[in-house]
Amino acid sequence: MATAQTRRSFLKIASATLATGALPGQGNPARQKPNAQDAVQLPPLHNVPTEGPEKSPSPTEPYSQRVGYAIVGLGDLALKEILPAFGASKYSKAVALVSGDKVKATRIAAQYGIKEASIYSYESYDELAKNPEVQVIYIVLPNSMHADFVVRGAKAGKHILCEKPMSTNVRDCERMISACNQANVKLMIAYRQQYEPMNRAIVKMVKEGKLGALKSFVATNAQNQGDPGQWRQKLALAGGGCLPDVGVYCLNAARFISGEEPTEVWGTTYQPKDDPRFTEVEETCSFTLKFPSGLIASCSTGYGAHRSQFLRMEGEKAWAELNPAFGYSGLKLRTAKLEDAQNVTIEPMIESVDQFAQEMDHMSVCVQQNLQPHTPGEEGLQDQRITDAIYKSAKTGNSVKLSPPAKPTRGPDPMES
Ligand code: NAD
Repeated sequence: MATAQTRRSFLKIASATLATGALPGQGNPARQKPNAQDAVQLPPLHNVPTEGPEKSPSPTEPYSQRVGYAIVGLGDLALKEILPAFGASKYSKAVALVSGDKVKATRIAAQYGIKEASIYSYESYDELAKNPEVQVIYIVLPNSMHADFVVRGAKAGKHILCEKPMSTNVRDCERMISACNQANVKLMIAYRQQYEPMNRAIVKMVKEGKLGALKSFVATNAQNQGDPGQWRQKLALAGGGCLPDVGVYCLNAARFISGEEPTEVWGTTYQPKDDPRFTEVEETCSFTLKFPSGLIASCSTGYGAHRSQFLRMEGEKAWAELNPAFGYSGLKLRTAKLEDAQNVTIEPMIESVDQFAQEMDHMSVCVQQNLQPHTPGEEGLQDQRITDAIYKSAKTGNSVKLSPPAKPTRGPDPMES
């Protein structure tokens, strides 16, 4: 375990990681404290030298000035995570709903104070163009539906936040990027883990060389999938099984934590013959990614195992892991290194955030300040290229070589929470 001194010094690093203020390229730092000049000054509660100031959230934007979102698809994620997350957001508000179920949408609209006139069907979706309250459309539909709804949303002149995986094939990803470019609107893929502070702390450690040269990345993201009738088990709607749905978290983490792009991939899939859940898609997938620096990522993902979520980046000087990783909450960061000839393991204390509020607020700040999102369409396209290569390798039994992406896949770093 950590010595007291080590723990203290690491907490310092952790709190530095948490410090507010924009990273380079994020624009005007004053933007993160809207109306700070108007804040009411309160007398200190604990006016004694041993009590530091209480940590409190920074001021939120007045409701009228927040960026308005239309949520498309009122399924599990939209209802359980995204709509509640507006309550934790600072710059974003829900102002419209798009659903195939008018009765459900009307109930949800009443719950969130959304006007009945701002409820749309999938057919009347394009009329969002005439709703000035909507600045961003958030696509939360089955994977193969993302492309058409992104293209239609861009034609309606709205910025787009699209759930992962971006789509089910490279051609659709390119079509989505091109439609948003043509309409001059922003496209962000909702890679929530890239905005989450513990993941960002590992990225920072890597960038600052704290792990030394990267050697190995290991990750797993598995869950036991139930209902065989759901769209996730239909190839045409999902684009694959566990790999594009949950394996993409391991794939994306290997890329954004290392900051590298793989040059060669190997994949293996298993699709049982006698399980009605897996008549169209794989149950299990394992894949290896080789990166230019010599880093090798070994990842596994599954739809048949008990929930298992873990990642570890191993460098020659230290390692950092999230166990569990990838979930909406309850992530745990640990890191180990050699100090004074002893192996010390440290658990930096970094507070959890609402990851959906965090990612939506990033999009909102990008819209308000005309910045490129940190995870634009190119980031989703690159994951799709690699996903295709993993499937190709699994089919042929050979490795597949990958050329570097044509354009940088990430925008400026997000501001820290
Ligand atoms: P879900 O099945 O719970 O919801 C899908 C919604 O799409 C439902 O409201 C459904 O009525 C609607 N829909 C419209 N046409 C449909 C069709 N032809 N077939 C099936 N549903 C149809 O799915 P979900 O879990 O909310 O996932 C939605 C998207 O969000 C997916 O792209 C998924 O990968 C993504 N997702 C992301 C996270 C994350 O952590 N970022 C978590 C879960 C899901």
